[in-house]
This record gives sequence, structure tokens and C-alpha cells, in this order.
Amino acid sequence: MASARDMLHDEQGRVDVKSLGRAALGDWLESLGIGRHRTNDLVQSLWHDGARTFEEMRRFTPELRRKMAAAGFVSWLEPALVLQSQDGTRKILWKLRDGRTIESVVIPDGERTTLCVSSQVGCAMACTFCLTGDLGLVRHLLPSEIANQALQVALLLRGDRRLTNVVFMGMGEPLHNLDHLCTALEHYQDDFGLNLSHRRITVSTVGLVPQLVEFARRSPVNLAISLNASSEAERLKIMPITKKYGVDQLLDACRSIALPSGKRIAFEYVLFEGDNDAPEDAERLIELLRGIPAKVNLIPYNENPDRDIHRPDQDRVKAFQNHLIQRGLACTVRTTRGRDISAACGQLGKAWEQAQDRGWLAAARAAVHGEAADTTGPTEPS
Ligand code: SF4
Repeated sequence: MASARDMLHDEQGRVDVKSLGRAALGDWLESLGIGRHRTNDLVQSLWHDGARTFEEMRRFTPELRRKMAAAGFVSWLEPALVLQSQDGTRKILWKLRDGRTIESVVIPDGERTTLCVSSQVGCAMACTFCLTGDLGLVRHLLPSEIANQALQVALLLRGDRRLTNVVFMGMGEPLHNLDHLCTALEHYQDDFGLNLSHRRITVSTVGLVPQLVEFARRSPVNLAISLNASSEAERLKIMPITKKYGVDQLLDACRSIALPSGKRIAFEYVLFEGDNDAPEDAERLIELLRGIPAKVNLIPYNENPDRDIHRPDQDRVKAFQNHLIQRGLACTVRTTRGRDISAACGQLGKAWEQAQDRGWLAAARAAVHGEAADTTGPTEPS
């Protein structure tokens, strides 16, 4: 199996230029005798124009295009399946160059369109409630593979909707792939690239403490901590990472992060019926978050047949939310989207099997070629 590092070059030794950050791209252009002053043109060709090959880059002369094509290649993801939910959410299964697959979820909501991206194939964190965790870590994604999810969706939406927000809540733990994440974020935020404000990007983590502190130093994007329990003992049962970095250590790290005024860290709290949804849990959560500019995002668990875990009823969710709000903690409840296509939180990683089991495969394949409107299956599963 190829590692992400092996995949940085193709069989002819050419480099994946979309995996190079701005500075490295400048060095590369310099090494070809083209000069780093053409970096903006190359970034724009790759990340704004969406050129599929060097040949398509009209900002460069044919001679320069040939030079670049001899030393580099332009990587793309291959859409293999598109599952369309009744609520408009779309789950896309992408095939990578080594044949592995990842998933992204596109969530339209009024003027806003949010893309949930993956950062790894599989995940090493093994959270017990999450299907992706069942896969284990297969490999880290390259920067190009992380950023191409947004570019290709933006191109797909062009003329219809605009991609406005990106959340790193898909497959993988983004801070476990820190350097590639940071390079991909350069492309997301570059004025000549995808041009997304850091205010519209959220990185969600289980809380790898040293990486969290380093990331907060390197990047201004929004942080979300996947907490999901109100005590060390409860979190240990569902999130093995707690063995390495305890709850107190994680929250102390959050307290140490210098946030701009008005900015808060989001704490995600998946509610499991009978496990962490009692008033005492709400009370303990308030105590835990004391001293942190925090807001809580409650996520009623998305049930699936692979787990004997249940979603609390709406009244219980509402009571938990009210408890936090009454004690002065900002708290929202995440609206579940894409449940019928298993695109909701913790459900990614098995798109192919799900499409096959539900008889949606042909429709989901057809949707890749833009025939989604009346052919994609979830509305009438067989
Ligand atoms: S919840 Fe996130 S960190 Fe945990 S196993 Fe799933 S993908 Fe990995």
C-alpha cells in the first residue's frame, strides 16, 4: 500500500504540484527557470480556474506549459458515487489515485453551502460511536486530496450555488495529519486560490493536545473540540484518545489558546440516550468548560444498524440545551442532515456498501455524470 509520501510523485517522478504550498510552489517554478514571480499565476490556474492539465493553463506560454508538464502533474479526485438525500444533502464518494476512497458531504442551507471534508483514509482514533473509526487508519491524505474536495465541489456548484463554508468533520482526525492540513488550508484561504475566509473554516478534533496547541499558533480558523462526555471516566469509554490526553489536560490546552476577542471554541457533544444526556451531565459540562470562551454544539446521535446506541428524544435534547443556556453557556443543537444517505456525523466510510445494500448503486453512479435529479436512489430505495 502506498503512503501519502509515496504518492507525492507519479511513476515518472513528476511532483503533485497541488500538494505544494505557496513557498514550495515558488521554489519549484524557480528550479524550472520560470521564476517565483509567476506563483500567483500558477496558484490561480490550479485553484481558481480549475485547470485539469498544464496544457489548459492559458496564463502561461506553450513553452512554459511544456516545461511544467515535464516536471509536475495536476492531481484530481475521481467522483465514483453521488448519493442525494431527500433534504438536498449530497454525499460524494471520491476515488483516489491508489484506488482508496474517501467521502465528502455537501450541505445546502439557505444562502449557505457547507462542505464537510475528509483528512485521512480511515482514522486511528477509534471513537466507539463512529463508523469511520472501524476502518482504522489506512493513510493520511495529501494536501492536494484535502483541498481538491473543495475545489471540485466549488466547480460542480458553479453557476448554481457558491461554496461558503468548509468543516473538517469528515473521515479522519485532521490534526493527526497536521502538516498536510496546514498546506491544504493555504489553498483554501489563498486570495488567488479558493479564497475562503478563515471565519468560514472549522477544524474539528478529538484533541491531540500538542498538535492542537501548535495548530492554534499556525492557523486562525475556527476550532471545534469533539468532547462528547462530561467526565474523564465516561469519555474514556467512548474515546480512547482520552487515555493519552485526559479531559483536564485537553481543557487546560484550550484555556491556553489565545483567541481573538469575541471568538469562541466550539465543543461538540454527541448526545447518547441514557449515557450522557442527564441534567447531571449538563451540570458537569458547565463546570468543565469554566474559564474557556466556549459554545456547545449538541449533536443528537445518528443511529445506524452497526451500533446499539440510541438517540435521545427531542424533549430530552431540548432540556439539555435549556439547562446549559440557563446557566449562561451558549448552546445550539445541530440539525441532522442527510440521514437517509448516512451522510450525518459519524456515519462516513461505508458509502459503497450502503449504496449496494440499498439498491442505489446504479443511480449513484449515474449521478456522477450529472443525472442526479431524477435517478439517484434514496428517495425510493428498493
Ligand atoms: S469521530 Fe472523528 S476522530 Fe473519532 S473515529 Fe470518527 S473520524 Fe476518527
